[in-house]
Amino acid sequence: GPRVGVLALQGDFREHLAVLTGLGADAVPVRRERELDQVAGLVIPGGESTVMDKLSRTFGLAAPLRERIDAGMPVYGTCAGLIMLADRITDGLGDQRTIGGLDVTVRRNAFGNQNDSFEADLDVTGLDGPVHAVFIRAPVVEQVGPAAEAIATVPDGRVVAVRQGGLLGTSFHPEITGETRFHRMLLDLL
Ligand code: GLN
Repeated sequence: GPRVGVLALQGDFREHLAVLTGLGADAVPVRRERELDQVAGLVIPGGESTVMDKLSRTFGLAAPLRERIDAGMPVYGTCAGLIMLADRITDGLGDQRTIGGLDVTVRRNAFGNQNDSFEADLDVTGLDGPVHAVFIRAPVVEQVGPAAEAIATVPDGRVVAVRQGGLLGTSFHPEITGETRFHRMLLDLL
């Protein structure tokens, strides 16, 4: 099958590589532009978006990645990866930028510092059966623009998963709970 990459500058990229490999995909870490050139799709993992932003620019990956997104490459971002895919962030640190592509506004660390990680069972548009979602210092999607679609909300109504064509973003971390359906969705887009 087509090769799929995981952005491996920082964060929990190894877990995503393991999920994709477990699904039978040809999954490789991406740290360089020439590695990005060789993948048909990409996962941007969880981690720390401020660090990922700096490293993506230092490694010369930010601009080529945006070009691939504009050219229609499917990309799945989890947590910090969702922040990287968002066109707008409300509380970026310093000169923090994003790659963009998803017509959404996200707020980082939106669930507060005291109770900064929690779990919930969610219905997700397009998936049969609930998703057990784990949130770790997770962002929330504060505004969904006309090009994007909310596909999951937490019980209080806040949006935590979005889709826009070949782009998929979740505030939570399926790669740590044995949940493989989001990665399958990405592979089905390739
Ligand atoms: N709080 C992190 C950020 O702002 C995201 C946390 C995560 O990816 N688990 O990038």
